[in-house]
Amino acid sequence: MPSSPSPARVRFAPSPTGRLHIGGARTALYNYLLARQTGGQFILRLEDTDRKRYQPGSEQEIIDGLHWLGLEWDEGFDIGGPHAPYRQSERKAIYLEYAQKLIDSGHAYRCFCTPKRLEALRQQQHKRKQQPRYDGHCRTLTQAEIRQKLDAGQPYVVRFAMPREGSITAHDRLRGDITVQNSQLDDYILVKSDGLALYHLAAMVDDHLMGITHVFRGEEWLATFPLHVHIYNAFGWQQPEWVHLSVFLKPSGKGKMSKRESAQMAKGGQSIFVTDLEALGYLPEAVVNWIALMGWSYDDKTEFFTLDDLIEKFSLDKLNPSPAAINFTKFDHFNGLHIRHLHPDELARRVKPFLEQAGYQTDDETLKKIAPIIQPRIKTLDDAAVMAGFFFREQVVPTLDALVPRKTTPQQALAIARRALALLETLPGVDHATAEQPLRALAEEMGFSAGQVFGVLRGAVTGQRVSPPLFESMAIVGREKVLERLRQAVRILAENAQNFAASR
Ligand code: GLU
Repeated sequence: MPSSPSPARVRFAPSPTGRLHIGGARTALYNYLLARQTGGQFILRLEDTDRKRYQPGSEQEIIDGLHWLGLEWDEGFDIGGPHAPYRQSERKAIYLEYAQKLIDSGHAYRCFCTPKRLEALRQQQHKRKQQPRYDGHCRTLTQAEIRQKLDAGQPYVVRFAMPREGSITAHDRLRGDITVQNSQLDDYILVKSDGLALYHLAAMVDDHLMGITHVFRGEEWLATFPLHVHIYNAFGWQQPEWVHLSVFLKPSGKGKMSKRESAQMAKGGQSIFVTDLEALGYLPEAVVNWIALMGWSYDDKTEFFTLDDLIEKFSLDKLNPSPAAINFTKFDHFNGLHIRHLHPDELARRVKPFLEQAGYQTDDETLKKIAPIIQPRIKTLDDAAVMAGFFFREQVVPTLDALVPRKTTPQQALAIARRALALLETLPGVDHATAEQPLRALAEEMGFSAGQVFGVLRGAVTGQRVSPPLFESMAIVGREKVLERLRQAVRILAENAQNFAASR
């Protein structure tokens, strides 16, 4: 059952002040799911009024990250739409118009207090152990006083005229009613002295004008949530459904991840940044599955979800207000599940760039053969380069370590390699059906386990101790190359076995 029968208009409204991380991506995802489920619209709005914290590059990263995750939007700062512009820096005049409406209706006022006076006030309140708060000094200025200050060109901010008495009840979808005494709230600044609206005004005006029905945002906005409800009421607008999502905690579960910790983590091969996850070889499907379940669940057991499943099953009722710890082990697990869920040809297409990046020249035909045999064995797409690079190497030069299986001496490995080579030279192929039985028989005859014989072959052909299944791999490498690599292994082992004997 869809949680909202009428089409939802929802927005993801990031500030271009840093990289797109999984917290933001989850907010975007929930918006997207609700929009698609209800046949509504998903809007991408850029909240770029804070020029000091603006980071060039982050707009593109947001766009790239969302595209990669498959969360396509219907209206946005890059594609426009019926409520354009969707970039707050281009909507300044609109906010001033609405600030004026609040002033005219007595819900806001101009405050001409100088930074110096405000600082003195702060210190005084600090000394008296009072909460820092504006004292309402300019709230009672007469029209004549205001006119005079304006004429004199005195800078001012616009503040919300918070009611002094009574209380406000704000309703959050996950947390229920939150009631606060108005006396606990401040006369918050809505427009700064440079004429730029702050989030409190800009986001409310935009959400209303853009017809937003559900506001998904981080729980860091709970503190000023009552103000936002006041602003809606002051305009006489209908409240949207407010949904404050819990924060993500560090993997340890202790506290929120700091900027520095996130950057540190990215260096260690794990990351909370969306475009890093792409580069590390994670699938967007796995990211979506993972973050969907960090704050939402379907039931106690189902853990595998595609984006389409989520569109069908997502519901606001199953959102969870308690914070979730980031669990990378789970993430790897999901990535494995989604890798195995891909069509092998699709997996071939996706591992290609990772192999190429590792310096291999690949061909699609071989890639398609490899895909099904690495599919059950790789955790990330990047693992394919380590696991399957040997398929694309002209030459594989194994180390002695790779050629000598456990509980086997170099001399024994040499004997195995020689006999296996002689045997394979007599066989028409190196595939499962042709070669496995004869090699098993050889092992028995020589008094070794099949594992020892296969281990030597694996080292010779792949140069690795761990590889996709031996016979499938040999079949793809091809008989000629297998024999060539086995001859090389004999040479390497012979040299080393001699050294080994000489050193005794
Ligand atoms: N720009 C705000 C942020 O990045 C958006 C909050 C909201 O979605 O209302 O936190």
